[in-house]
Amino acid sequence: VVQRSAVDHLPRYVRVNTLKTTVEDAVDYLKRDGFSYQGQASRLEDLTLKEKDFVRDLHLPEVLVFSPKTDFHDHFLYKAGHVILQDKASCLPAYLLNPPPGSHVIDACAAPGNKTSHLAAIMKNKGKLFAFDLDAKRLATMSTLLLRAGVTCQQLAHQDFLKVDPDSLQYKDVEYILLDPSCSGSGTVTIAGSLLARLTSLASFQLRCLNHGLRFPCLKRLVYSTCSIHSQENEEVVKACLQQNPGFRLVPLLAKWPERGLEPLTQCLRASTSKTRSHGFFVALLEKHNRSFYPPVEIPLKG
Ligand code: SAM
Repeated sequence: VVQRSAVDHLPRYVRVNTLKTTVEDAVDYLKRDGFSYQGQASRLEDLTLKEKDFVRDLHLPEVLVFSPKTDFHDHFLYKAGHVILQDKASCLPAYLLNPPPGSHVIDACAAPGNKTSHLAAIMKNKGKLFAFDLDAKRLATMSTLLLRAGVTCQQLAHQDFLKVDPDSLQYKDVEYILLDPSCSGSGTVTIAGSLLARLTSLASFQLRCLNHGLRFPCLKRLVYSTCSIHSQENEEVVKACLQQNPGFRLVPLLAKWPERGLEPLTQCLRASTSKTRSHGFFVALLEKHNRSFYPPVEIPLKG
């Protein structure tokens, strides 16, 4: 369980929204606004910053890092949608899924939409981004957020992802899915009391969502993430899913990332206040087996 004080001392991260600006222009604007740019971080220690200092993150190229008390809520760059206030770890899923411009993508549990807007930026607003959520209020917040971020390739639906038909014609070209389902949130808040019953029920929902995502016929890659530190919602869900779907395997992620999934799922990433200076997080990337990876079958020549 993450203690509040540890979270309060985390750096502040912002993601530059490349639909509206560039990292270079955002850095220049911030310098003119009294912030002091210290260049690109190369070690985790470089993320310990004082007052008005800021750096470019060492792992995620579009993330800028500030001292813990920096507040951007009233800042022009935030109000104009040029930067998104998003923890570094939560920028991992869209970055790792990396859908090309023009592709068809599903964000299965999307609201309030920070990862949706990140996907749209990576897709350069080209292609189709289907985003689902069950919660109407969170979807309304999401519409405002996406408008401010200049996202135009989205199709929002107030819908249960588990009831979306993978065989429907409109999803026939979906190759990428981002699945960030409800979780215990234990990476971001202090939780008191026993969690076991809740974890069991969440894990069963998460596994159902994962299995459902893998049913889309053209799917190439699915990224699964939670802001939980519990293996029941993370490695155990992924392990069960891989057992039930032998046509998929894990993609090894960012060799230089300092915290891995628990053994044996070390292809996955974890994040925490102590090891990555971020909120607690888990991310796995599943990929459909490519048949061409197998040696071709030799057909004996006749005669
Ligand atoms: N990906 C979001 C982001 O980065 O802003 C955060 C998603 S939050 C962890 C999980 C979301 O899943 C909640 O908004 C919740 O309403 C939604 N949700 C829960 N069950 C769902 C379901 N069966 N279908 C679609 N959305 C669901």
